[in-house]
Amino acid sequence: MDKKPIKLLLIEDDKDDYILLRSQLTKIPTTRYKLDWEETYEAGLTKLLQSNYDLYLVDYQLGVRNGIELIKEARLNGQTLPIILLTGLSNSAIDIQALQAGADDYLTKGQIVGDLLDRTIRYAIERKKFEKEREKFMREQIASKLLDKRKDEFMGIVSHELKTPVTSLKVFAQVLQKRFTTVGDDAAAQLLGKMDAQINKLTILIGDLLDVTKIEGGKLQFNNNLFDFDELVDEIIEEMQRTTTNHVILRNGYTKTSLSGDRDRIGQVLVNLLSNAIKYSPHTEKIIVETTKNINSIQLCVQDFGVGIPQRKLSQVFQRYFRVSGPTHSTVPGMGLGLYISSEIIKRQKGKIWVESEKGKGSTFYFSLPITKST
Ligand code: ADP
Repeated sequence: MDKKPIKLLLIEDDKDDYILLRSQLTKIPTTRYKLDWEETYEAGLTKLLQSNYDLYLVDYQLGVRNGIELIKEARLNGQTLPIILLTGLSNSAIDIQALQAGADDYLTKGQIVGDLLDRTIRYAIERKKFEKEREKFMREQIASKLLDKRKDEFMGIVSHELKTPVTSLKVFAQVLQKRFTTVGDDAAAQLLGKMDAQINKLTILIGDLLDVTKIEGGKLQFNNNLFDFDELVDEIIEEMQRTTTNHVILRNGYTKTSLSGDRDRIGQVLVNLLSNAIKYSPHTEKIIVETTKNINSIQLCVQDFGVGIPQRKLSQVFQRYFRVSGPTHSTVPGMGLGLYISSEIIKRQKGKIWVESEKGKGSTFYFSLPITKST
């Protein structure tokens, strides 16, 4: 099958040059060209703005006006297709002016011969295509950054406004629960207990939103103190075990280590890893938390046997707002913030966080934190 010809328009006031170009183009064996011709500046500009060609060749001499003005005018009117300026003799001042006006290349009349002509035209077209792709990519990147920034701002405002009413709700629910227990209405007390658990979930969500705002503003604060790591792990496992009846959280290994760091923030990371392990393993029971001590660090991992994460998505799970798509994941509620916050916390505490996973088999999230020697 013959490929479609490359459509060229020559804007040139000398018919002999049109004939020369046409005859040179027909001598090129490898590319098929279709050449049209316009004689004047005005007719050329009209055609340029209609964008019906793959490339335009514009002669420098165009009656009383010149090709550089024409190129400039076309570019100012939004024409982005490739344009080559043809000049009588190579003159560096004109060549540079042509490029500044928006020409993609220039050819002297002597260069209008077979191979060089063919290559100059095809390269100009290819370069333009590449430039367009790159521009599109850059535009998308900027748009997505802007969108994230707007999301952050919005979430910052919303979460701040939600904090106070939710705190009051929690207090009222707890007071009511106590009252119902005292008067012996266990059914009502139980319902209020459930309400309290839901309010806790909401509090964590609001906390996450506020944390993201703080991270983005460089305002996430840490209170570093010495604390018993094993004790923290036990405490969080117990707390998280209370939120699920379908899972059993097992613990392996003890570090017998005191860490210097922000106990609450490190606890928050473990809460997040465990709540993910619970969320993303709806049909399996076992979750394992294992802690080990190395020479200069402690390591913790949370292993589940749930839906897992596809290999090609693994590097993205710690990114802000990233969620794995597909039926196994998108039916689980979430905002794609927990792992982002966790990784920021671990990084700020000079540790490392990473994941290993196989789709359908389960995931293991790890973090390690340095043990600072007390002096
Ligand atoms: P989310 O609120 O969406 O759970 P996270 O930041 O905690 O946000 O996690 C990001 C994404 O990583 C999740 O949406 C999910 O697709 C995937 N993910 C996290 N933990 C697990 C896990 N234990 N098993 C499978 N996928 C997980």
